[in-house]
Amino acid sequence: MSSSPLSPADCIAVENELGANNYHPLDVIINRAEGIWVWDVDGNKYLDFLAAYSAVNQGHCHPRIREAAIGQMARITLTSRAFRNDQLPLLYRKLHEMSGMDVSLPMNSGAEAVETAFKAARKWGEKVKGIAGGSQEIIVCSDNFHGRTISIISASTEEQYRDGFGPLTPGFVMADYGDIEALEAAITPNTCAFVVEPIQGEAGIRIPPEGYLAAAGRLCRERNVLLIFDEIQSGLGRCGKLFAYQYEDVVPDGLIVGKALSGGFYPVSAFLASREVMDVFTPGDHGSTFGGNPLGCAIALAALEVIEEERLAERSAELGAWFLEQLRTIESPHIREIRGRGLFIGLELDEPARPYCEALQEEGLLCKETHENVIRFAPPLVIGRDDLEWAFERIRKVLTD
Ligand SMILES: *Cc1c(COP(=O)(O)O)cnc(C)c1O
Repeated sequence: MSSSPLSPADCIAVENELGANNYHPLDVIINRAEGIWVWDVDGNKYLDFLAAYSAVNQGHCHPRIREAAIGQMARITLTSRAFRNDQLPLLYRKLHEMSGMDVSLPMNSGAEAVETAFKAARKWGEKVKGIAGGSQEIIVCSDNFHGRTISIISASTEEQYRDGFGPLTPGFVMADYGDIEALEAAITPNTCAFVVEPIQGEAGIRIPPEGYLAAAGRLCRERNVLLIFDEIQSGLGRCGKLFAYQYEDVVPDGLIVGKALSGGFYPVSAFLASREVMDVFTPGDHGSTFGGNPLGCAIALAALEVIEEERLAERSAELGAWFLEQLRTIESPHIREIRGRGLFIGLELDEPARPYCEALQEEGLLCKETHENVIRFAPPLVIGRDDLEWAFERIRKVLTD
């Protein structure tokens, strides 16, 4: 364990002085982690109840993924896609087997995979559906979160994400989340795709009405519109199934994954699609220097194997149902709603959630508010029932004090 040459106060001061001010983190300076636990520089131990926005579903520094990473680092890390490597086909095969999607295209950050989906959808719209080039429309939902690039924020309804960043990218059409009639009304002959989160994470763990995704699937099929799920946060076991959309009878044309795809070791994302959609890409159309690199692929392969072998989706379903039930026994006048699927749970308050998160930190539990009034509970999926009980006692204490 290396100790920092900076005191905790200096860490914060240097960050404030030399960094951009685009985050508002809790003042806990972490320098070590294992499984569900993280330690700060003073040696205090915390239960991580955010799991890096679901990027560490497998738990921090999972030994199996670490071994794959270190082993691969000692062999070859980057070839670029100018040449082939022996890890990428293994990842392709694993993604195909686990998701049932025909083919995939690897990228790095989630936002890049979303951009890839947008590009595929637009090109499919023009070249396959026959929409006049430049008039393709992509339907997205109110309160979505798909990332931070200029095109992605152009598809956002969140004023802060867009403010000052214009000119924005045209071609996005908004439909209210969860409202199938709004989706139907938004479809025009120029619509190439509907891109949606099966459960909205950043919006505060919002679950659409039952039947919405299946109805969207039928509608998209009827109107020759691609259905693309952004499962970057909701997928890979988080919601109690491998993918959150699997709670309904629907098959997407495209699927976007990231975050837990690398178990937190390294940015790895991918756009998965039907052969027909992916075939719009030809050499030179799209790419990424690091996308599909052997280090990322070896890590992602191990991360997916851990999700499967440790049955993390099943664990999430079982433990999440139990935890939700426990949370609903808490009596507090400030609780407006508790909702969730698997260990993807939002507790909505009638007042700002930040002070509660700070109080939970004092109790040894790291949570982060989302959208002002919601506390998100999303621990690594390797958590056990005992540790959830431990967490529950602290949550109850903070909410009822
Ligand atoms: C986090 C997230 C993204 C963006 O991923 P980055 O790796 O931060 O670019 C996109 N969509 C959803 C649903 C996310 O939760």
